[in-house]
Amino acid sequence: MQYDYDLLVVGSANADLVIGVERRPAAGETVLGSDLAVHPGGKGANQAVAAARLGARTALLARVGDDAHGRLLLASQDAAGVDTDGVLVGGAPTGVALITVDPSGDNSIVVSPGANARLTPEDVRAAGDLISRSRVVSAQLEIPLETVTEVVRTLPAGTRFVLNPSPPAPLPAEVLAACDPLVLNEHEAAFILGDTPGDAPEDWSRALLRLGPRSVVITLGAQGALVAEGRTDTVVRVPSPRVDAVDTTGAGDAFTAALAWRLGLGDELPAAAAFAVRVGAVAVTRRGAQDSFPTAEEVGAP
Ligand code: AMP
Repeated sequence: MQYDYDLLVVGSANADLVIGVERRPAAGETVLGSDLAVHPGGKGANQAVAAARLGARTALLARVGDDAHGRLLLASQDAAGVDTDGVLVGGAPTGVALITVDPSGDNSIVVSPGANARLTPEDVRAAGDLISRSRVVSAQLEIPLETVTEVVRTLPAGTRFVLNPSPPAPLPAEVLAACDPLVLNEHEAAFILGDTPGDAPEDWSRALLRLGPRSVVITLGAQGALVAEGRTDTVVRVPSPRVDAVDTTGAGDAFTAALAWRLGLGDELPAAAAFAVRVGAVAVTRRGAQDSFPTAEEVGAP
């Protein structure tokens, strides 16, 4: 089978509106902040840019508003080399994340999903051709769960599905069964398990496998990642290179995109994860989300 795309990302696109503040306003209060910074973001848009920057032939299925933020998002995808023919425009304002950052670096965030909430199962059905031309399809949960469920139903046999369940939500069995792998951090794992079975991530990964995914990858920040495969009944740790982290924003998105791309190239899951931790480790040494994503050369591929 010849594929036009190494990776199709189905997910969100947000404008991140960031203002630095000395302190957050109380109810009824106004405070003055820094100049506004507007960055392209959203997990779907981030993963698509991360994959394209690595050299993956990447497409994005998403929805933005017919507004300036939507045009900003399309321009940043185009600049990274992502195919945006699948980005739908209109129906609601572009999704926005209103972010205040205090002097200690802590964020407070209000998200308006906007057009992301209007990416529907019908939109997925209409994108059947795009899906069938893609070797790997990845999704996250900043779009409606029924839309992600429709992606799983639309996947041709042989197309690999990678899900990053973020923000975490209870997952239907048919979605879990399609994941190869389910990629998540410890917080998301704890949410999905509802209970933490012991301290060891190895135990968590086995408990997650019992929910039905074919494989599980738990990201462990500076510790790297853990890979669990049902078919071989193996659990292996993949350490991260040691780096001086300055900003972990987007590291999980860079990791997931890199992993999905390398799986599509034919890597076994542990090898794909070993590449992905190197991508994540570079991303945390730079500020921002999309600005921090490396090229394959910067990672020292292969
Ligand atoms: P997280 O979502 O925080 O678990 O991070 C995702 C991936 O980014 C990890 O699996 C690592 O590859 C990388 N990463 C995150 N934080 C660090 C760090 N402090 N040092 C090196 N790599 C990191």
